Amino acid sequence: MVTATPARQVAHLVDTRSEYRLTGEVVVMTYRQYPLGVRRPELHPQTYTVTCGFCGSELLIRVDSIEGTRMARRRWLMLGLLGVLFLGSSIAIFFADPLHRSLSVALVTVVMAVGSLFAVIVGFLTSRLEDGTRLLRSPGREGHHLRYP
Ligand SMILES: [Zn+2]
Repeated sequence: MVTATPARQVAHLVDTRSEYRLTGEVVVMTYRQYPLGVRRPELHPQTYTVTCGFCGSELLIRVDSIEGTRMARRRWLMLGLLGVLFLGSSIAIFFADPLHRSLSVALVTVVMAVGSLFAVIVGFLTSRLEDGTRLLRSPGREGHHLRYP
């Protein structure tokens, strides 16, 4: 659900350290987060200046409207669905010739399957995470991100 105020917050990176766990080395990043304090525009994307609550840096962010954010989520969802379609097609083509007499067709279908799987993962994941907010390039941007609380 897209709300009138963006869910993502300004995040200031305060600490980065490595930890060793059972799965191996993990980089742990610690952020201090602050609400954006802006509302979504009615129609078109707007650029706002927000201040980081930790260091006082002024950051430029672009915020899309509710409908614009929904459209962006639908576009990512379409990418995921197209990925499913191409993944299914590549698997069907790959197994249509069980002896793989044509090595080039087999290679193309494997590459197509890997690319389609990437599109499925990125499309479906990003369709859930899209918030219609972008942190734009600005002088104080270093060490800042937009993150969900
Ligand atoms: Zn900051």
